[in-house]
Amino acid sequence: MTRIFSGIKPTGHLTLGNYLGAVRRWVAEDQHRAEALFCVVDLHALTVEHDPARVRRLSRQAASLLLAAGLDPRLCTVFVQSHVDEHARLSYLLECVATDGEMRRMIQYKEKSERARRSGQSVRLSLLTYPALMAADILAYRADEVPVGDDQTQHVELTRDLAVRFNQKYGATFVVPRATPPAVAARVMDLQDPAAKMGKSHDATAGIVYLLDEPEAITRKIMRAVTDSEPGVSYDPEGRPGVANLLEILSACTGKEPAALAESYEGAGVLKRDTAEAVVELLRPLQARHAELAADAGYLEEVLHEGAARARALARPTVDAAYRAIGLLPPQ
Ligand code: ATP
Ligand code: MG
Repeated sequence: MTRIFSGIKPTGHLTLGNYLGAVRRWVAEDQHRAEALFCVVDLHALTVEHDPARVRRLSRQAASLLLAAGLDPRLCTVFVQSHVDEHARLSYLLECVATDGEMRRMIQYKEKSERARRSGQSVRLSLLTYPALMAADILAYRADEVPVGDDQTQHVELTRDLAVRFNQKYGATFVVPRATPPAVAARVMDLQDPAAKMGKSHDATAGIVYLLDEPEAITRKIMRAVTDSEPGVSYDPEGRPGVANLLEILSACTGKEPAALAESYEGAGVLKRDTAEAVVELLRPLQARHAELAADAGYLEEVLHEGAARARALARPTVDAAYRAIGLLPPQ
């Protein structure tokens, strides 16, 4: 059976980008058609300036939102990365297979290290080595597919390279995985800056729709989205990124093609209104379920406890095999 792994970082409140680019498909497709693992990757949240209490709170909230979105622990495994030691164990081995140069080439490293420097913060070494830990997340489970948004495909490519290199040098140990980005809304853009990806850790929040935003806030943010001064509505991601972003969001909500949707609008105002309505309706059931789950903290703990046990049992043999293959003496 196909195995799937994907994760989400507790670096901020989950966004519409996270939902359309990743979580929605985990719920609607992946958990039904494959053996799927979904992880709150909390170790990755420590790669940038962080507040311990906030990371803990966001980890719980992310896990709860995954369940609220519809992940069913009877169908898939939901767990927290730091509960399973195998991720960190394998990450070190992969750092011994990767090169400094390939880590420095990662776009996310360039962007996030630049952002840290701009705000006067030092760049953590873990931000550079992040892709080795992400590769460990995936390879430890011998996952075939990694459903992620567009922005993560470079990291999955690196994961493939590391898996192939390890297998060639030390013997067949890992499955070589592939990224499976969604057909639409693979990269939802910031509503205030359509040149930038909507990201949950960004400071400027006016262009970000959070999954737990009130309907009024969602509507306000979408109605104020930056578009352009051209008349009418057309689907041109290069030339009209703001309008294209709205069309893609609406497309992801309605299942209609962005170009076909463009033809039914004469002005950006009505497009914004319909997009806002569609997003509010899309998120309504998720928000209601999240409120229900918040009243039952015991359930979440149970799910995460069982999830970690299942994940550990899957990862352990592969990581042990990697330790032996690379030349480490097994415990006597
Ligand atoms: P951060 O700003 O901390 O990097 P993020 O919003 O990028 O947060 P991640 O935890 O890095 O979220 O990514 C979780 C998943 O959501 C990944 O599969 C990623 O590709 C996807 N994703 C993130 N942002 C977007 C977006 N704007 N559009 C589509 N998919 C996205
Ligand atoms: Mg990200």
